Amino acid sequence: MTNPIEFDLRIGKQKPYSAQGAPCPFCHPDTLTHILEKRSDMIWLMNKYPVFHETWPTVLVETAQHDSDISLYSREKLHEVIAFGLEKWKETAARPEFKSVLYFRNFGPRSGGSQRHPHSQIIGLYHYDYKDNIFPENFLGPLIHEDEDCYVTLSDYPVCCMAEFNVMLKKDGHTEHFADAIQQVVRFVLHDFPIPCDSYNLFFYYIRGHVRVKIFPRYTASPLYMGYRITQVADSENRSHMLEILHSERYFAD
Ligand SMILES: [Zn+2]
Repeated sequence: MTNPIEFDLRIGKQKPYSAQGAPCPFCHPDTLTHILEKRSDMIWLMNKYPVFHETWPTVLVETAQHDSDISLYSREKLHEVIAFGLEKWKETAARPEFKSVLYFRNFGPRSGGSQRHPHSQIIGLYHYDYKDNIFPENFLGPLIHEDEDCYVTLSDYPVCCMAEFNVMLKKDGHTEHFADAIQQVVRFVLHDFPIPCDSYNLFFYYIRGHVRVKIFPRYTASPLYMGYRITQVADSENRSHMLEILHSERYFAD
């Protein structure tokens, strides 16, 4: 059994929440401090609110456009953001002081994020290996798309979400098609998911030598999962329907 990470409520209480009308710090880049790197309009910096103990928390502000999102990025912008994120994540993971490094992204009111402005997070964990909680089976399921660089599946054995999508970068695959596939799944989640959905998470993993990302449509968490760790999958009729739409011209008609 893995030990929990401590969440600092004293710091958590100070965090500005855009849903409560707090001004957006990322729209005022001149006021940002502890910047690690800038590239075009992207900024990688230390998180001002380090709520997780024994971590090295950073934030990657993806664009200057407050109301944008991965689902809205041009192809060029999308490729730039994913390439920068993967580069900084790998760079951080190469540092020997971390046991593992998280790279994830929140979007929407149900995603657990406090800021609307498009951003992702890269967090070095000094004593925790996130891979202890993840199994290779969590990425297996029907194939939605495959090209020379990546493949896309719907999980048969999800980590926790009833419809969990995976995009896996092939060995030596280019990240452009990987990024395109992520964008297509995110668009599907926001526009064509069987239940209206306004929130999602991206979670990146480096497992068995492969970069993988999970796209989670977000709802209020199920009590079955919260209390008993019982995972659920969508019923077979809806799974077939989702796969049909994803295989259509609108998304991954190959
Ligand atoms: Zn903003």
